[in-house]
Amino acid sequence: MATKIRLSKSTVTPEDKAAVMAVLDSEYLGIGEQVRLFETQLQTILGTDKTAVAFNSGTAALHVALLALGIGPGDEVLVPTLTFVASFQAISATGATPIACDICPDTLFIDLEDAQTRLTPNTKAIMAVHYASDSQGMPGVYAFAQKNRLRVIEDAAHSFGSVRNGKRIGVEGDIICFSFDGIKNITCGEGGALLTSDAEVLALAKDCRLLGVEKDTEARYAKQRSWNFDVKHQGFRFHMSNINAALGSGQLARLDAIISTRASIAMRYLAAFKSHENIHCLKLDYDHIAPHIFVIRVPAAKRDALKDYLAQHDIESGIHYYPNHLLSKYHTSYSLPQAEEIFPQILTLPCHLDLTPGDQTRVIDCVFDFFRIL
Ligand SMILES: *Cc1c(COP(=O)(O)O)cnc(C)c1O
Repeated sequence: MATKIRLSKSTVTPEDKAAVMAVLDSEYLGIGEQVRLFETQLQTILGTDKTAVAFNSGTAALHVALLALGIGPGDEVLVPTLTFVASFQAISATGATPIACDICPDTLFIDLEDAQTRLTPNTKAIMAVHYASDSQGMPGVYAFAQKNRLRVIEDAAHSFGSVRNGKRIGVEGDIICFSFDGIKNITCGEGGALLTSDAEVLALAKDCRLLGVEKDTEARYAKQRSWNFDVKHQGFRFHMSNINAALGSGQLARLDAIISTRASIAMRYLAAFKSHENIHCLKLDYDHIAPHIFVIRVPAAKRDALKDYLAQHDIESGIHYYPNHLLSKYHTSYSLPQAEEIFPQILTLPCHLDLTPGDQTRVIDCVFDFFRIL
């Protein structure tokens, strides 16, 4: 029996485990020195002048980014429909309304022509998603935002370690949010971070993750706690723990190797499927991204059968994503034709650090066999 090939997974080394054990031994498990170090390391590795604030999830980072911009009930935020429901939940958690927008067929990035038609006097921000790690469309998003006086939140959950315009994601832009959940490019177990150079957003975000207790981050990093404090805003229990940060620091130290392994998996899929009549790859900037997921497009009538065929051969695959505007909570009165045409065609193939060349051959052969036989 061949072993099961997973779609995605965490990879935890003995060094990562030792780093986590050291925190457990220290018996300072909450937010403290390791979180401070992780944030500093993030800034250094990305080569950014922005400040990083760590959270217990990427969703929390997105949620707090919006709150720190003063976004709430009555406000609207433009967001592509083809994203993890986390993007939508982060917006609706503030009381604002996510306005689902269509996507570009080649990149599955937000379609700004469609977004243009959805502007109202209540539109406050645009949340652009770096779908499958690509963000070539961001300069267009910033021009659009400037013209329409919107703030920009980059949902960079897929793109940690990727490069745009010669710089790592997190160097340029308004507010950038990463996820470090179990299957992202680097993992903290669960975790996320927000990066910005907006001092007001930073101060609010730091307090917000610690129940709104003013300057509590500074106290915790000095190994103290705030006993006399004020709270002016709604806060949440959203900070990262030392345990999660220690795992993340170990992963960060290997970032270059992680990126090159992921990139070579994507390159091999690209080369294999290049001239296949039924399989289309996305037109992404594969030379500069750290691929989180590898997505192909196949004829809609065959997608589910291909997914089942792979499953029969012990190969997991995924669908990123079911369009959010078709979910009950976010259902729109309008249709988004490109997303609706494309989502039945997309399939995500295994991409993770423990996918061996032999495993990948099995995946590629299985996809080819399917189209030969069926
Ligand atoms: C993973 C992800 C998030 C949320 O991150 P969590 O850390 O899982 O909360 C947000 N947006 C996208 C596109 C994601 O893939």
